[in-house]
Amino acid sequence: MNIKVFVKGPIDANNYLIIDEKTNDAVLIDCSSAEDSFIEEVKSTGVNLKYILLTHGHFDHLLGVDKFHEVFGVDTYVAQEDMTQVRLVPDMMQMFAGMMPVNISSINHYVKDGDEFKVGDLTIKAISTPGHTEGGMCYLIGDTLFSGDTMFQGSVGRCDLTGGSWDAIKDSIRNKLFKLPATTVVYPGHGPKTTIDFEKKYNEIINL
Ligand SMILES: [Zn+2]
Repeated sequence: MNIKVFVKGPIDANNYLIIDEKTNDAVLIDCSSAEDSFIEEVKSTGVNLKYILLTHGHFDHLLGVDKFHEVFGVDTYVAQEDMTQVRLVPDMMQMFAGMMPVNISSINHYVKDGDEFKVGDLTIKAISTPGHTEGGMCYLIGDTLFSGDTMFQGSVGRCDLTGGSWDAIKDSIRNKLFKLPATTVVYPGHGPKTTIDFEKKYNEIINL
């Protein structure tokens, strides 16, 4: 497995292109920009892009999905609970980034807890982790986790926006993510990677 990180969009979200090196099939976790340079960077990898999996429905993680659908013909998956967030994208773009609002229209596939996606020889397992939003999803591939805005290095996602819940995010992290093996490497939706072991020891917010 080869992981390429693209930091894009109005709030510097991490987009992860995960490539199965045997087949050259790939999945993109989050797709935060429609800019040409992002399209070109993904094209230049030469991979067969199979799906886009969203960690949640916030605007700063999905602004590229319509363009990617057009260029690569890929479908985008999000938890159905987060379609509320997808409908709020134009408002959020204006409010948080002063951007010209656009509607996102190409998301029509849903992911739920326990779903599995195949990319070549890789299996991606969806883990529902509500809290930052109602439909927050993490994706696990072997001992590698993509945590979206549920958990960051030393921090957790904010819970004060529509659909957020502090009780829910605590429950998701303590009872789902912290049950994963300690050596699991965690790639969050913003900022540097971490591990489950590190967060158990040093994440002061979740340990409050
Ligand atoms: Zn978010």
